[in-house]
Amino acid sequence: MLGGSERGRVAVLGGGFQGVCCALELARRGWDVRLIEKRPDVLTQAGIQNEGKLHLGFIFSNDTSFRSAETMLRGALSFARHLRRWLDNGIDQLGASTPFRYGVHRDSLVSADELEARYRKITGLARTLAGGGSVDLFGSDPREDVRRLSDSVAGEDFDPAMLSAVFATPEIGIDPEALGDLLRARVRAEPRITVVTDCRAETVEPGPDRVAVRVSMDGRTDTESFDHVLNCTWEDIVRLDQTAGLERSTPWMFRIKHFLRVTAAEGATRRMPSASFVLGPFGDVVNYGGGALLLSWYPAGCLGKSGDISPPPWPRVLESGDAETLARDILDGLGQLMPTLARDAEALLPHARQRGGIIFASGDTDVDDPASKLHERHAVGRRSAGRYHSIDNGKWVLGPMVAVETADHLDGIAR
Ligand SMILES: Cc1cc2nc3c(=O)[nH]c(=O)nc-3n(C[C@H](O)[C@H](O)[C@H](O)COP(=O)(O)OP(=O)(O)OC[C@H]3O[C@@H](n4cnc5c(N)ncnc54)[C@H](O)[C@@H]3O)c2cc1C
Repeated sequence: MLGGSERGRVAVLGGGFQGVCCALELARRGWDVRLIEKRPDVLTQAGIQNEGKLHLGFIFSNDTSFRSAETMLRGALSFARHLRRWLDNGIDQLGASTPFRYGVHRDSLVSADELEARYRKITGLARTLAGGGSVDLFGSDPREDVRRLSDSVAGEDFDPAMLSAVFATPEIGIDPEALGDLLRARVRAEPRITVVTDCRAETVEPGPDRVAVRVSMDGRTDTESFDHVLNCTWEDIVRLDQTAGLERSTPWMFRIKHFLRVTAAEGATRRMPSASFVLGPFGDVVNYGGGALLLSWYPAGCLGKSGDISPPPWPRVLESGDAETLARDILDGLGQLMPTLARDAEALLPHARQRGGIIFASGDTDVDDPASKLHERHAVGRRSAGRYHSIDNGKWVLGPMVAVETADHLDGIAR
């Protein structure tokens, strides 16, 4: 589709993962894109400050309609295919993490036996959605069975006193920072995309044929009109939607989640599995290989929640004393479940960088509440009011799929 005729001008507000995916897909289809980012560079926030897990739906097992799992599977199954088009096979240089083990905490909201049954159902869904052909997912195959590990195998890494079962899953992650580097270079090289940084979208005013965006930059404000406007601002999604007259009927929550990125000597982490501890406010270990780890422990790292229109200006990187305390708390929390990690904690600490990102989701109670809407993530994607489109990907893994669906919608209007 490269070299297609000009379709019109689109403003993409927010240069995170979602905004960049939308910009690349629209540019390929012949749209001229202005990518407006309020920070000095694109891809600095949640789009790279996340775990890079290519969710297959296991984490959303509390949603027994399985619509969240199905949504995740659809995103995961198309993720690499779309990125491959935008990055011309560049993604092949990204390695996959070790596969995720799911450790069922003794305080889990759902029993291990029940989770096992739900995981089986999700694998069945994966088989239906993927069919019998090949799957493009960094070498992993979501159709593989989830296996309950024997106590002796599980006990090599995990503490059976803390976990009622450990499951081996085909779920993997990729390093979102490494993918961000590839996308940043690509979006800047694309002739149909103009990247405007240090430019904040203030308000949006949809009209019948054009949508006006007021921006502030260098202390000045300016208004420009576009054929379409996409709100991909994540942390500013609710506020901008309101200026455009697009209201939400359900409550939402912003959370700031802090975690550790560790770059250690490869030998120190080579055989460490990636792990998610479920189901409730627990944590994750992601081993990307090459000595790169991500460690998160929800009780220590989730330091703020807000149901306001905009989240408060939470610092992403904490003051050094607080960051050190957080690092120890994360390692303590995870180390209790994973003695192999506890054993290496002191050696890993000097190589740990504290990071943080904002999570936006529908719901007004936290994940320790089994009835919390945070356990669902299927009512996501695009909401439109005419030529204004608000994009809530719900999860990073859904970003490429949502970008393509959004471009299909714009093409449909342009036809
Ligand atoms: C700690 C953590 C772990 C996570 N782990 C996973 C995971 O393993 N797998 C998964 O699928 N999902 C995960 N997520 C969720 C995932 O990160 C988000 O769903 C996704 O990244 C959000 O979309 P984005 O990348 O476009 O957001 P962002 O990167 O936040 O992009 C939004 C951009 O908009 C800009 N912006 C904001 N307001 C304005 C404005 N008014 N004008 C102009 N620009 C503006 C911001 O500066 C930012 O660059 C995680 C999230 C967090 C925080």
